[in-house]
Amino acid sequence: MLYDVAIIGTGPAGVSAALNLKIHEKAFIWIGKRDLSDKISRAERISNYPGFIDATGAALNRAFMDQLAAMDIEITEAMVNQIMPMGDHYALLAGPDFYEARALILCTGVSQTGGIRGEAEYLGRGVSYCATCDGGLYRGRTVAVVCGNRRFEHEARYLAGLAEKVYFFPYYNAPGFIADNVLSSDARPVAVTGDERVEGLRLNNGSDLAVDGLFCLRDAIALDTLLPGLATENGHIAVDRRMAASLPGVFAAGDCTGRPYQYAKSVGEGNVAAHSAIEYLENI
Ligand SMILES: Cc1cc2nc3c(=O)[nH]c(=O)nc-3n(C[C@H](O)[C@H](O)[C@H](O)COP(=O)(O)OP(=O)(O)OC[C@H]3O[C@@H](n4cnc5c(N)ncnc54)[C@H](O)[C@@H]3O)c2cc1C
Repeated sequence: MLYDVAIIGTGPAGVSAALNLKIHEKAFIWIGKRDLSDKISRAERISNYPGFIDATGAALNRAFMDQLAAMDIEITEAMVNQIMPMGDHYALLAGPDFYEARALILCTGVSQTGGIRGEAEYLGRGVSYCATCDGGLYRGRTVAVVCGNRRFEHEARYLAGLAEKVYFFPYYNAPGFIADNVLSSDARPVAVTGDERVEGLRLNNGSDLAVDGLFCLRDAIALDTLLPGLATENGHIAVDRRMAASLPGVFAAGDCTGRPYQYAKSVGEGNVAAHSAIEYLENI
């Protein structure tokens, strides 16, 4: 099915975009986490969001979820690994699944873990964002896993069941993932090395590891890898006042467009992006 719009990311910006597309009866797919962004539920106290007096993040999350349920809005639980321009629409790869939409609203937030030098260059040549999709290629081999969030540990566990050795780099405290063939490290990978394919990983302590593959399991994917050709400014998506990005039919909202990183800004931009996407659809 060719959707009118694909929204990527289920933080406040995505919530706002989805509510507006639903009201305007657009055929849209919304891809992200069903229980919404961790950055909503993790806030201890929110004092600057209109309509809520010192709410906890959990309370705001619940209010968003209730509203989505009341409006019958569904989330497709997945991570979009890559987006490809197809002329008059875009194709999205999300794990093993494939979606198509005329317009996009990127609400991907900002990643705390950052990218690794060479990551985009070696994507598909040893770098992967999906253990389920590509894990089978590394049976009996050595892989490194950058794990940005505890909720991806099950993917690392799956890889440990296939690979001979796994170098594991958790970007959070007290990882709960242990196996005989797993070496966990507090060092940070800074560069991918190799010739035609990934052959190694340089760490911030100066050491080099020989690896056959690198799995980056994070909450967000580097923008230039997600959608090649998308213009950025200081690591954020460059947008105009309509929240239009540099590619036709692509809009962006929330933290991914720049500071301040705030719920109210994200929600406002999600609203504008949805209306701009609707206008774009009417004009094509
Ligand atoms: C602990 C904490 C407390 C905070 N307190 C406040 C506060 O009091 N007031 C305030 O205004 N702000 C606060 N913030 C900031 C606020 O959380 C962010 O500004 C807001 O969540 C940004 O919303 P967003 O929709 O742009 O992105 P996010 O909330 O970051 O959501 C982006 C979502 O997109 C998903 N995603 C990214 N890439 C992909 C992909 N390729 N495929 C599928 N999904 C993808 C991510 O996993 C994530 O779920 C706080 C943040 C934290 C961490």
